[in-house]
Amino acid sequence: MLPAFRNEALTDFTVPAHVAAFQTALDLIRSELGKTYPLVIGGEAVYRDDVFPSVNPSRPDEVVGYFANATADHVNRAVEAAAEAFRTWQYVDVDERARYVLRAAAEMRRRKHEFSAVMVLEVGKSWVEADADTAEAIDFLEYYARQMVALADSSDRLAPNPPEQLSLRYIPLGVGAIIPPWNFPCAIPTGMVGSALVAGNSAVFKPAEQSPLVAYKMCQLFWENRLPPGVLNYLTGPGDVVGGRMVEHPGTRFINFTGSREVGTAIYAQAAQMQPGQKWLKRAILEMGGKDAVVVDETADLEAAAQGIVASAFGFQGQKCSAGSRAIIVDEVYDTVAQRVVDLANRLQMGAPDDGPGVDLGPVIDPDAVQKILAYIDIGKQEGELLLGGEPVQMAGDGYFIQPTIFGNVPGDARVAQEEIFGPVLTLIRARDYDDALAIANSTEYGLTGAVFSRDTARLERARHEFHVGNLYLNRKCTGALVGVHPFGGFNMSGTDSKAGGPDYLLLFTQAKSVAERL
Ligand code: NAD
Repeated sequence: MLPAFRNEALTDFTVPAHVAAFQTALDLIRSELGKTYPLVIGGEAVYRDDVFPSVNPSRPDEVVGYFANATADHVNRAVEAAAEAFRTWQYVDVDERARYVLRAAAEMRRRKHEFSAVMVLEVGKSWVEADADTAEAIDFLEYYARQMVALADSSDRLAPNPPEQLSLRYIPLGVGAIIPPWNFPCAIPTGMVGSALVAGNSAVFKPAEQSPLVAYKMCQLFWENRLPPGVLNYLTGPGDVVGGRMVEHPGTRFINFTGSREVGTAIYAQAAQMQPGQKWLKRAILEMGGKDAVVVDETADLEAAAQGIVASAFGFQGQKCSAGSRAIIVDEVYDTVAQRVVDLANRLQMGAPDDGPGVDLGPVIDPDAVQKILAYIDIGKQEGELLLGGEPVQMAGDGYFIQPTIFGNVPGDARVAQEEIFGPVLTLIRARDYDDALAIANSTEYGLTGAVFSRDTARLERARHEFHVGNLYLNRKCTGALVGVHPFGGFNMSGTDSKAGGPDYLLLFTQAKSVAERL
């Protein structure tokens, strides 16, 4: 019997010993930079001459590692290896599968700062954000292991029907194509891989091009635990080539994707196309973007609201699907809140996160992101008033830095208020009253997270019913979901309505088999 699930504690970086330990981990990872990493197919390392670099976005000259560009043929081999491994892995007892996952969790916990340090260097996360990312990864493993043990044999949920002996078992689906984004480069891949494996599936896993090292280190935890070869295959390379073939391959039984709406919707269409030799309808679990809003009414604690808006908008440079990129403030308090938000955002410390724990705002992920964000800033200048920022920042190391940027008096239907920018850009929208604010909040095609700051309990009650998002937060920021506490996932164009870190999640990677034997 496992002890009850508890969330992993976060590191307190005001304690000098924790800072020293984290610095040691950063030094360790720095000493390993620039290595070349293989694909891992059926337990075998496959090195390629054709590689791409993963770089530190704070100092793009610093190569974190070189990773292989896999081809469609590598995908074919990986799917075959995964299918072969599935033949036996599917029958491994759930307790044993859970032990693999729990051992990976224990080892990740022991080397926690190492994982976080990789993220500081590979994607420019602040220490605090990286630490939370690793903690969430550990939580996913601990949580899903417990959930699967409880779910696997659900026979006791059936009504008795003597003289029949009944059973209801949740069995795996098959080979999963696992395609995560780069922005939670430890937590999301770990949750996606851990859930697939503990449910008895095998996996072909392709991390995002921007964050392959942290993903490789996560896989190592499983491989070093002697996970049977082929159960977890690791591929790197261009999303359209490698991910595209993973989705298309007739041997793929399900796709677990987290990323942009553009790619997610294309995968949805592709997964629906039957391929020669395919015996099933592929299941596509797609978690996509957001245009999340923080609503503030005239009764709210305005200081708490302003702090919540800034934390939601600028945490990890706004590169979270849950980022509160719209603040919808009722007219009566709009000017006060807007002023305070600008003041607070102006105080955020920008810098290279590998310089220390005091950095609030690091770089954005890559030159494409810089270009996209600056293009939206140009649009924002037409659509609203520029209140703060709006420019790229030149820093030592030539990293991809952009000022925290705030636009005021943006119409709710403006492009910068409707489209996901995925960077440090906040739009402030003036609402006539609370009704208007809720209508604006619901006016996008997304439905991921949202927050309401109000002291009026009737209004909070209305938000519970009318604010149509998968994760609604009342009187707190709209980022920072905890595993087992805030099951996470959105509605509408934010995804296929799944809830990571929640009690229903593993149903997505299993199918129920009901057996009745007449005695
Ligand atoms: P992306 O869509 O560009 O890439 C996601 C993954 O898809 C990557 O691994 C990429 O290599 C792969 N890919 C790209 N083209 C592909 C193709 N044609 N076929 C198959 N795979 C392909 O997204 P990103 O930039 O990595 O991540 C940012 C996006 O992720 C944002 O939109 C963000 O909101 C979203 N996101 C959503 C959640 C959520 O839980 N809803 C969580 C985190 C991020």
